[in-house]
Amino acid sequence: MRASQNARLAPVMVCIVSPDSEQAPRGGIDLGGTKIQTVIVDPDNKVLGESRRPTPETGGPEDVAREMAAALREAAAQANLGMRDLAGVGIGSPGDADEQTGVVSDARNLPGWDGAFPLGEHLSEQFGVPVRIGNDVDVAVQGEFELGAGKQFDTILGVWWGTGVGGGLILDGKPWIGRGAAGEIGHMVVMRGGARCTCGRRGCMEAYAGRLAMEIKARQEVKKGAKTDLFRIMEERGRDRLTSGVWERALKHGDDLATHLIDRAVKMLGVGIASAVNLLDPEAVIIGGGLGVRFGEQYVSRIATRMHPHLFVSDRPPHMHVATLGDLGGAIGAALLVDARVPAPTA
Ligand SMILES: [Zn+2]
Repeated sequence: MRASQNARLAPVMVCIVSPDSEQAPRGGIDLGGTKIQTVIVDPDNKVLGESRRPTPETGGPEDVAREMAAALREAAAQANLGMRDLAGVGIGSPGDADEQTGVVSDARNLPGWDGAFPLGEHLSEQFGVPVRIGNDVDVAVQGEFELGAGKQFDTILGVWWGTGVGGGLILDGKPWIGRGAAGEIGHMVVMRGGARCTCGRRGCMEAYAGRLAMEIKARQEVKKGAKTDLFRIMEERGRDRLTSGVWERALKHGDDLATHLIDRAVKMLGVGIASAVNLLDPEAVIIGGGLGVRFGEQYVSRIATRMHPHLFVSDRPPHMHVATLGDLGGAIGAALLVDARVPAPTA
């Protein structure tokens, strides 16, 4: 168990250092492959300001960090705050995010980020306040656990259905990250020797359900002669990838290929999530992510139906909910990494 987690799980009403620090707002940054979402929250986690910028598509970690800093400053300006008014800044990052050192490695969906970059230190120097880093899905699940759809439960499994399929675990009120890599539910094998996953292996749940994997499959099917409106809708919307909105539109039009691929995704989500439920027996499964939030309750109940045949204890399935914090959830969850009871530095 990491010290930071103990700290942020401590009851809010004890150990208040001083009245000033109790009031200090916090910053949160959700660093995604397509967008950087930032928030400023007050001690009750109410959003005081927010700003979003596209993630740079070229350059390297320093370019990404520059946009992150600019987006957070915009959010702070909205809240009439300067950086030094903050108790600190939390970041939910893709790739291998080391909470202890603030180093982010192998964030392959970010430009030029194949190596390691000291993101925490870099931004802390710019902001003049402490910066804490966590895994993007872990912090979003923590946000739902403390403030959203998971509030009433002690043990939850978060499944973030988006570009990939991420996972986060809270067991008995505590985040479980194993030796740093737990929760990778997207890479649970649902079909031995099955579809090629973006991780290079075969048969992972993400290979069937991840937005990127589904897009690759759709392109292959079109090459083989399949008819679909997916790419026409993509172009009409000025997109260069099949976003969750593009999938939703195609489904509404009854597009055969889109319907087939999403049905396949839902089936495999059912297989994979049921297997995880058999192992962990969580009280609830929270479905988030770009596709999960867009498709909402209707799809969550479809996933539940697909899980059912695979549940060992099928008369007592877990509660199934859509994440409720919405687009800002990742950034609000990241802000929870900062312990507001630690006074902001006065330097
Ligand atoms: Zn995989």
